[in-house]
Amino acid sequence: MKLKKNYLLSPGPTPVPPEVASAGAWPLIHHRTPQFQNIIKEVAQGLKYLFQTQHPVYFAACSGTGVMEAAVTNLMSPGEVMIVAEGGKFGERWSKIGAAFGCQVVPIKIEYGRGVTPEQVEAALKKNPGAKAVFTQLSETSTGCVFDIEAIGKVVAKTPALFVVDGISGLGAEVCYPDRWGVDCVLTGSQKGVMLPPGLGFISLSSKGWAACEKSKSPRFYFDLRAYKKALDKNDTPYTPAISLLFQLAEALKIIQKETIEGMWARHAWLGEATRSAVKALHLELFAERPGNVLTSVKTPAGVDGEKLVKEMRDDLGVTIAGGQEEMKGKVFRIAHLGYMDRFDILIAIGALETALKRQNFAMKLGAGVAAAQEILWQDPQR
Ligand SMILES: *Cc1c(COP(=O)(O)O)cnc(C)c1O
Repeated sequence: MKLKKNYLLSPGPTPVPPEVASAGAWPLIHHRTPQFQNIIKEVAQGLKYLFQTQHPVYFAACSGTGVMEAAVTNLMSPGEVMIVAEGGKFGERWSKIGAAFGCQVVPIKIEYGRGVTPEQVEAALKKNPGAKAVFTQLSETSTGCVFDIEAIGKVVAKTPALFVVDGISGLGAEVCYPDRWGVDCVLTGSQKGVMLPPGLGFISLSSKGWAACEKSKSPRFYFDLRAYKKALDKNDTPYTPAISLLFQLAEALKIIQKETIEGMWARHAWLGEATRSAVKALHLELFAERPGNVLTSVKTPAGVDGEKLVKEMRDDLGVTIAGGQEEMKGKVFRIAHLGYMDRFDILIAIGALETALKRQNFAMKLGAGVAAAQEILWQDPQR
């Protein structure tokens, strides 16, 4: 059998740095000990840095959706109105969670690939003056579109509504200042920009968010953030934490703090620019109107079988990118440049894409995408 080397370029899970991978194999220690309290203290401080917030960041053993649910149940009560920017699969997830907990969901329907505008949010708030909160994404991973959180934050801040941002793929890759931008709740998951395996969710609330949390009448137990707050104040967790993942988190946060958050944002912007440039050089079209630096979403060109392209890249060439989700299946493919990624990961992705396109007789010049990426990548923004 021929040798196949595998590369992971999906927008979650993302590759894990070797130091982080080996920390997952450390012998377990008991979590109710001073030794583990030191780890909690360390990660609590590192998470505030990653989130760029002065508010504590809480963590729970769950995937990102777990903390999305926590945002809904801790901030909303049944019957209350939540405005949701539905710009893709993850916006739709906010609406589904809200409906599951009896909230009155008011969706802002956005064509896939487009971003929600501050004007749309303003209009929705005017029409629903009693709305409790506005729910959005920082990066809508299903379309590759990044939302203008700063501008939307300004609009929401003029009203009593809370502003909730799903930063699950965006945090660490896209510039985000939750405290300055009027974000009341921001959350992420471990398997995206944080460079960990899946299994941890992170969430932070503003003071206004905490006031709502104290009053919420939604049913909640495991995700009742008041329990996490009480515990974290004593460098503790309410239930058995994901000990190994927290060892790994401490290592990942060391890497993040060494690079600095500004360095991380600059690296993602650089890799994103190179990928977009390569895609254009191959005469392919970007799917997102406002493409982010988390991933590059590309329209499948006429004459190319998009699902086959992604499958062949993964199963034959060893390069895992993501296809389209649900209605977007086959119509788009998504190349991530998220987390533990550097310049040559982009060349691998583009090289594999060219190979797979060529095999489907798509008209382009082999190496054109790689050359365009190199024009961006040879210069290093962090040098
Ligand atoms: C990945 C992702 C989610 C879902 O996270 P899970 O960890 O799969 O539960 C939600 N929102 C966004 C924007 C994502 O990228």
